[in-house]
Amino acid sequence: MTLKDHLHLRGSHHHDDDSKESKESKESQDSESAAKKLFRRLKSGGRSSDEDSETEEVPPRHRSDSEAEVVIELPPAADFHVHLRDGSMMETVTPTIENGGVNLVYVMPNLVPPVTDPAAALSYMSKLKSLSPTTTFLPTLYLHPSITPTTIAEAAASGIVGVKSYPRGLTTNSDSGVLSYESFYPVFQAMSDHDIVLNLHGECPSTPAEEVGGKEDEDITILNAEAKFLPTLLSIHHKFPNLRIVLEHCTTAAAVEAVRACGPTVAGTITAHHLFLTIDNWADDPFCFCKPVAKLPTDRAALLAAATSGDSKFFLGTDSAPHPKFAKQGRSGNNKTVAGVFTQPYAVQLVAEAFDKVGKADKETLEGFCCTFGRDFYKVKEKGIEVEGKDKRRIVLMKGLGEKAVKEVGSGDGAVVPFRAGEEVWSLKWKE
Ligand SMILES: [Zn+2]
Repeated sequence: MTLKDHLHLRGSHHHDDDSKESKESKESQDSESAAKKLFRRLKSGGRSSDEDSETEEVPPRHRSDSEAEVVIELPPAADFHVHLRDGSMMETVTPTIENGGVNLVYVMPNLVPPVTDPAAALSYMSKLKSLSPTTTFLPTLYLHPSITPTTIAEAAASGIVGVKSYPRGLTTNSDSGVLSYESFYPVFQAMSDHDIVLNLHGECPSTPAEEVGGKEDEDITILNAEAKFLPTLLSIHHKFPNLRIVLEHCTTAAAVEAVRACGPTVAGTITAHHLFLTIDNWADDPFCFCKPVAKLPTDRAALLAAATSGDSKFFLGTDSAPHPKFAKQGRSGNNKTVAGVFTQPYAVQLVAEAFDKVGKADKETLEGFCCTFGRDFYKVKEKGIEVEGKDKRRIVLMKGLGEKAVKEVGSGDGAVVPFRAGEEVWSLKWKE
């Protein structure tokens, strides 16, 4: 029995699938106790004892906790950019939040249809809460023409934390995205007045050279799409200096510089996978392909430097974005892959490993980036989103125990391949 079986079982329990319904329901009941056992095993860092006897894929032997080369204890982390989807994918991935050492997540609204009204956002949060009761879910709305300053006032009153802007057609479920930012200025003013955060997917849509009359350097590709967006970030910030803005998933040295150049109301999230990847990794591997794409080694170095600098403008937002394996492999109809890297079950473990490569996997640096800076920027204590001291648990990171990232989460058509599947990862356990 593996993680994938376990999570599939958790998911299928609620999944009404036509002809397979009664069979799946029976399987769920039969395997419930096994699933519970496995959840405990995941909580202890994926290490196992008796319950693996029936699996053909025997996990590697792990060393005991006392043999760890490095042990770091932290408060639970916060992840300020996650995609949890809906339906069976939601049921598969939401329980893995805890595996990544996280107890607070900022949930992206790019469902089909997009989450554009406060009531829909709150009902989505309650579904998520039922799948991961120990996690705090922060609701967001999708920036859309139907959103008005009145919607923003209602959103603020109902506890919506932010509004996410997607450039039209650029990434997963962004067909309703933004074409012109100026048309949203009245909405941005209302967000500033009500202290709601603007989350920017900071890329311009690709524009071929032919469409800009062949003018040198005016065409846009996925390599310069983020750099081309940065003037928009600066202009929105200058127009609305009190509006809190997050430039999501920074991937370039230029983006880091732009965030630094802005005032204290502007911050940037950095993903775990962009601390590892460069262009060469995704060029031939769909499981490393996401938007914005990973750029050059100099960009990766700038991200790592920013994340480990202790500058509170930069904090963790994994942009963990699950897609079924078959869709990543281009088998969903159009022979193309889909953008997104799934890191949720190993969120903090991956950050620790990346920081360790530059000698910065120390408690203070990790705690700032993974736990403190984002919470402070989003004012989670000030706004009463999280009650200090209520969750007394700690997470314990351990290096060198020989744990390997699972190859898949979920099973069948719903299986998702996590980032660095099958490779050695740091271990993480929760301490009550
Ligand atoms: Zn995203």
